[in-house]
Amino acid sequence: MPRKKGFLHLPITEDFLKTIGGDYALELVQIWEKKKGNVTDEELAKQLNVKITEIRTALNRLHYRGIACYQKTRNTKTGWYSYTWSIKTNRIAELVMERQAEEIQKIKKRMDFEKNYIYFNCKSGCTTVPFEVATEYQFKCPECGKNLDEENSVKKLKVLNQRIDDIRIELETMEKMN
Ligand SMILES: [Zn+2]
Repeated sequence: MPRKKGFLHLPITEDFLKTIGGDYALELVQIWEKKKGNVTDEELAKQLNVKITEIRTALNRLHYRGIACYQKTRNTKTGWYSYTWSIKTNRIAELVMERQAEEIQKIKKRMDFEKNYIYFNCKSGCTTVPFEVATEYQFKCPECGKNLDEENSVKKLKVLNQRIDDIRIELETMEKMN
C-alpha cells in the first residue's frame, strides 16, 4: 500500500534527512516527490543548481541507508551511463521511527543517571563534580574558591521528560500519516 507522503515534511523527517544525507538530501527527496517518480542525478543537479558530484554524494549516502535506489541505463548513442534514482519513502519512515525510539532510550538512560548522581557546580562555571568530590573540596571550587552549588536535577529531569513527550507526539503524528 502506498504511504502518504505528508510525513516527508515533518520537522523530524527533514532533520533526519539532513543529518544522514547532508545539505542536499532533503531537497532532492522533495524534488523527487514533486516529480512523482524517477529522476536522474543530472536533473537533480540542474534543479538545485549544484555540482553533480554533490548530488551523487548525497544520493550515495541515501543509498547506503536503503533510502535511494537507482537504475543504470546506457545511452546507446553516447555510450555513457545514466542513473535514474528513486526514493523509498517507507524506508525513510522506518528509519525516522527507529531513530526516535533510540533517542527516547538515550534520554531515559540519561534520566536514570541524573536520578542517581547529584552534581555540584561552581557558580562561575569552572567545575562540575559529583557529591563525593564536592565534600572533599568542602563545597568550595578548587579553581576560584566560590561555593559549589547543587545542580538543579529536578529541572533537568523535567526538561528531559518533556523531550520524551515531544518525541512521542511526533511519532504519533507520523504513524497517523501512514
Ligand atoms: Zn570556580
